[in-house]
Amino acid sequence: MYDNYQIHLQKQLTEIESAGLYKQERILVSPQGPQIRTNTGQEVLNFCANNYLGFSNDPRLIIAATQAMKTHGYGMSSVRFICGTTDLHKELETSISNFFGTEDTILYAAAFDANGGVFEPLLTDEDAIISDTLNHASIIDGVRLCKAQRFRYANADMNDLEEQLRQAQSCRFRLIVTDGVFSMDGNIAPLDKIKKLAEQYNAMIMVDESHSAGVIGKTGRGTTEHFNLIGQAEIITGTLGKAFGGAIGGFTTGKKEIIAMLRQRSRPYLFSNSIPPTVAAAGIEAFRIMNESTELLDKLHENRQYFVEQMTRIGYSIKPTQSGICAVMLGDAKLSQEVASRLLTEGIYVIGFYFPVVPQGQARIRVQLSAAHTHDQLVKAVDAFEKVGRDLKILP
Ligand SMILES: *Cc1c(COP(=O)(O)O)cnc(C)c1O
Repeated sequence: MYDNYQIHLQKQLTEIESAGLYKQERILVSPQGPQIRTNTGQEVLNFCANNYLGFSNDPRLIIAATQAMKTHGYGMSSVRFICGTTDLHKELETSISNFFGTEDTILYAAAFDANGGVFEPLLTDEDAIISDTLNHASIIDGVRLCKAQRFRYANADMNDLEEQLRQAQSCRFRLIVTDGVFSMDGNIAPLDKIKKLAEQYNAMIMVDESHSAGVIGKTGRGTTEHFNLIGQAEIITGTLGKAFGGAIGGFTTGKKEIIAMLRQRSRPYLFSNSIPPTVAAAGIEAFRIMNESTELLDKLHENRQYFVEQMTRIGYSIKPTQSGICAVMLGDAKLSQEVASRLLTEGIYVIGFYFPVVPQGQARIRVQLSAAHTHDQLVKAVDAFEKVGRDLKILP
């Protein structure tokens, strides 16, 4: 039986490879951080991690995790509702609710699970989900698992959202779903306008703050803070795998009845293991640090601002951004791969994205800034971009 299937897979894999879409893994032998070492011995400056606040290797989080390992052990060997809940899990849920100004929080093994498990228990075929077309894959999959009627609006297009809301008026409940910051352009969802439309057309709001929490808003509380709408989205999902330590874990936070229902019915919560106590303890520490000071957040924005200014000065076309994501627009797919590969030779690790991940003709390098980048590292990155840009005649 496997013989035929093996040939079938080999053929598909070859197709993926010849289309230039085969994903390789780069093997790190150092901790995650602004400077990393790979198994080939190469040391590079890293501009493609979601390590926005530098928490991935922050000594304070490491101490918190180590401490928890001593007091609470290694693994939970259980889902939350059987014997997978410790005081640390409850404390982290409270920390998250306090941080976002929400009523209650439920933890998941990942934001992918939070999104995968949020729709199906809450909505039925009588209801409508109105989703931004550029929402994360986990939202798309979560929506697929739910029987609610599906409506899609063009990215951040409020005319289209209004049209979809009109079409969904006969449904019982309506839920508008958006990423807080979109991962390819780094643009912020227009939550203020979404809120107005939600009021006008009687809809609820869900925001996935995975790329925006810890990054957007005066104190890093995400898009609801940015637009002065703390506590006004019914549902927020987010990850511990990006700004807040980068280990693993996700959450849904929001109205208490919603969270209560998820604890009863959300399948990734009921049928998947609890996050380890180390991760919960480090998460608590990350939110504590964020509550105490905006130092890291300010540093991230200072770094992003400097990088954007310098890249614009030397002549690159940059998508407007207020997030940790900076899209350096190149247009041509091949060119984006060539630039990324030459930058790597210069010791700068970035990824080039092209169709179908981004629209045709809008290939780009996505640069992700971090509070952990030093000024010197940013200067090196800009210099490398300048050299490669000149060599490839992208820049004058
Ligand atoms: C990264 C990301 C996720 C998935 O987060 P994990 O915790 O790694 O599963 C979900 N939604 C958005 C918008 C993301 O950017």
